Amino acid sequence: MKIIEHFVNGKSFSGSSKKTSEVFNPATGEVSAKVNLASKKDVDDVVAIATKAFVTWSQVPPLQRARILFKFKELIEKNSDELTKIIVSEHGKVYDDARGSLTRGLEVVEFACGIPHLLKGEFTENVGTNVDSWSIRQPLGVCAGITPFNFPAMVPMWMFPLAIACGNTFILKPSEKDPSCPLRLAELLKEAGLPDGVFNVVNGDKESVDALLSNPNVSAISFVGSTPIAKYIYENAAKFEKRVQALGGAKNHCVVMPDADLDQAVAGLMGAAYGSAGERCMAQSVAVAVGNIADELVSKLTKEVNNLRIGPGLDKGVDMGPLVTAQHLEKVTSYIDLGVKEGAKLVVDGRKFKKPQGYEKGFYLGGCLFDHVKENMRIYKEEIFGPVLSVVRAKNFNEAVDLINRHEFGNGVSIFTRDGDSARTFSSHIKVGMVGINIPIPVPMAFHSFGGWKRSLFGDQHVHGMEGVRFYTKLKTITSRWPSGIKATSNFTMPTMN
Ligand code: NAD
Repeated sequence: MKIIEHFVNGKSFSGSSKKTSEVFNPATGEVSAKVNLASKKDVDDVVAIATKAFVTWSQVPPLQRARILFKFKELIEKNSDELTKIIVSEHGKVYDDARGSLTRGLEVVEFACGIPHLLKGEFTENVGTNVDSWSIRQPLGVCAGITPFNFPAMVPMWMFPLAIACGNTFILKPSEKDPSCPLRLAELLKEAGLPDGVFNVVNGDKESVDALLSNPNVSAISFVGSTPIAKYIYENAAKFEKRVQALGGAKNHCVVMPDADLDQAVAGLMGAAYGSAGERCMAQSVAVAVGNIADELVSKLTKEVNNLRIGPGLDKGVDMGPLVTAQHLEKVTSYIDLGVKEGAKLVVDGRKFKKPQGYEKGFYLGGCLFDHVKENMRIYKEEIFGPVLSVVRAKNFNEAVDLINRHEFGNGVSIFTRDGDSARTFSSHIKVGMVGINIPIPVPMAFHSFGGWKRSLFGDQHVHGMEGVRFYTKLKTITSRWPSGIKATSNFTMPTMN
């Protein structure tokens, strides 16, 4: 059996723990490897290594740091087929989708290559007579990232390229469900010339996360995952006096107005609801049909959901792969059972999907479509994280906006309309962090920042873009005067310009 280890100080590291966790190939349902889960001692050892590496890395000029990232970008491009196949083999998503997610991560590396410009401070001459003042951004120290299973390359790359570009060292604790891609990225960073100890990958479960939270030498924690764990990370990182950004779960709505181009809306919804088998934090899991278009929308969606091509992610022409694990498949299926019990109308029942020949043990589920979903139902309130789209009917625009604003999550939202007034009012009044207008998945580009509102993000700063630079640096403001020609006087009042 293949054993997946950690990557520490520029090489593979077994750690002292005997704990392991199984990694599956979701397409076949077979165990493909076992991953070592780090103990508290292992994590503390890695933090000590990253702390030591910080002393020299933080002093490397930003341009030299950027050059290593340029090389890393080239290596990702060169190895993108291999990296994509690793993602497919452990996550299950289809090849083109996996490749797209790698590209979105790569774009953050490209943004981080501009770090010399991004770290330029501000300078004011003569804030007082012969007194100058300037601000600089300095790295924090050892930063840690804890990431979910659904984007094993992209979500870690939201974090570490900028963190190390800013002069920090980094410890990544990826999901134990698909740890191989982050480890390969660590090898590529070393090949690109990153000094040992600057980027480390530690595999683990709650024990390793708790060890990162409580270690006083970890300065900042970036987390992406489910809301209960995001809240736990936020509270505990704050308790241990760390900077923290903790991105949580979602329930993303897509409002379809009566004047929308319905075919565009349906095409957008199909990709956004069923792409990556719905295992995306920006998946559209609720379609809000406004006014009299609901029946036509449901009828068009039904046809498309029935036509979804489902199979192993490496097969050509497949729209949707399996779910990540048997356990997750069971959870999603239990939500479909629940929706039926709650009284929603199950228009397309993905539970009946017949698994592809030769893949009978894979974690497949067909696309599911619910109509007449109501606000009080758990299938509406909770994140399912599978290929399940719920249609909620709203009488008018205001009812749709109020419904979304009452929801506990506020990650992403879209509106399909031809009316500029509705679109503008919507983007201004909706209490959601990322808004799409006739765009089904409004994931901001690397040079903007990604993050939700309400219980989809705990903390102050979103990831990547300038918010990312601010998160991974602390501001220092220096005020200076040179003594020549100045008479020495003591001043006991607050210094002012008067
Ligand atoms: P998860 O919360 O189960 O796990 C995320 C990370 O936390 C993993 O590394 C895991 O090992 C660790 N973890 C799990 N339980 C823990 C515990 N009790 N204590 C400490 N650490 C723990 O999430 P997941 O199932 O891997 O990913 C799916 C979730 O991630 C969904 O809710 C999805 O919406 C969310 N997500 C959010 C975003 C976003 O940008 N808001 C992006 C991607 C995924």
